[in-house]
Amino acid sequence: MKSDLNRSGEILSTTQDYAASILEAVSDRPVSAEPHPPEPVRLQEVGHGFEVALADFQTRWAPGFSGSAGPRYLGFVTGGATLASIAGDWLTSVFDQNPTSALDSTAPYLERETIGWLREMFGISDAHTGCFVTGATMSNMVGLAIGREWLGEQMGVSVSEDGIAALGAVNVLSGAAHSSVYKALSILGFGRQAMKRIALLPAREAVDVFALEEQLRALKGAPAIVVANAGTVNTVDFDDLPATVELRTRYKFWLHVDAAFGGFAALTEEHAGLVNLLDQADSICIDCHKWLNVPYDSAIQFTRRRDLQVRVFQNYATYLGVPQGVPDFVHLTPENSRRLRALACWFSLAAYGKEGQRDIVQRNVDAARRLGEHIKSDARLSLLDPVRMNVVCFTLANEPSEERVQALVRELRDRGEVFLTPTTLHGTWALRAAFSNWRTELGEADRIFAAIIAAL
Ligand SMILES: *Cc1c(COP(=O)(O)O)cnc(C)c1O
Repeated sequence: MKSDLNRSGEILSTTQDYAASILEAVSDRPVSAEPHPPEPVRLQEVGHGFEVALADFQTRWAPGFSGSAGPRYLGFVTGGATLASIAGDWLTSVFDQNPTSALDSTAPYLERETIGWLREMFGISDAHTGCFVTGATMSNMVGLAIGREWLGEQMGVSVSEDGIAALGAVNVLSGAAHSSVYKALSILGFGRQAMKRIALLPAREAVDVFALEEQLRALKGAPAIVVANAGTVNTVDFDDLPATVELRTRYKFWLHVDAAFGGFAALTEEHAGLVNLLDQADSICIDCHKWLNVPYDSAIQFTRRRDLQVRVFQNYATYLGVPQGVPDFVHLTPENSRRLRALACWFSLAAYGKEGQRDIVQRNVDAARRLGEHIKSDARLSLLDPVRMNVVCFTLANEPSEERVQALVRELRDRGEVFLTPTTLHGTWALRAAFSNWRTELGEADRIFAAIIAAL
């Protein structure tokens, strides 16, 4: 280890050459393959040094890694990583800052600057403060934890001091909430059953606001949490935010908006109207490792009630001090020590600006539309919903059974040209092609369509 110190340049440049070769080939390597992990080996009593470790990684592990950073990996909602963000991510490890407290470093201030830039990009006012968390799941969890404390405030109890039992049964209302919201309900002690699923509009994934109002009225003044969805994973549908916000004039609820990737609608003139009232939410979830195209793990949590957030997440210790004024990040999220998660975002935003982010969104939307047109015009396939933004949801025209859809997903995976993930939409088995990578050019849509047809 000590001798490595004298060769840090050599070690990093070897890694750099290797990394560059990977990045250059990422568009050509198979996007996916069935995993065949190598046999595990025992921990070495004595290590063999960096070069041997690298060679071992290159032969045993790297070949089985997916091409998820590349342009035709369309499973889940998977962003790549811009070059500036990779550089920022690397420097995060080099400086190895812990932005927990502002005792000794400007790192937390860089994080606040980045949060300010993101707020500006999404049209969120400074009534909101933000913090970085590992992903949208954690952002939803933190937002709902603040909502939990708000419920206590409404009922004159403190959940953070007295526990969840002080609340009694909790009502969480949502139309097509993401699976991670249910996970959050479990973690937070509400229980998954706390979710009251509200009817959706016909053939849509957006909530029926009249049905939502009916449910709120039935609560007879009891406070609730409403999770509004801004960008669903199957069809990128958006709840009617203005109508939902309007309900707050008559009903008492915490409004959490899951805008994990739909928040990026704010970047294009065509879609911005879908999220123009995002700022009105009490808490907002936006993912950075998806459409912002920074490396995992990165998301933002915004809220108007930092005071309640501090009540939930405060970490008093004499050496950290009591949170006063602008609270340190240690008092705002589940983690205490952590990496300077903002730096990769900071680099990408500084390098490419708002225009660069808009360009990614626009190109992805254009490519999704083109694939949608191809699918619509082919009798063997059926487009299940108009392409609203960056996800194409389609299925087989004949007998779209679970078995046949899963077989097509596997066939595509094994061919390694394009990776899609399966889903069900209104009870029909389907495939999703989710565009969110900065490398994906319009022409890629033709190649993707050809790959789908070839795999049928
Ligand atoms: C991806 C996603 C999540 C969960 O995000 P992770 O980053 O995987 O934790 C939550 N909500 C929506 C709408 C998403 O698309």
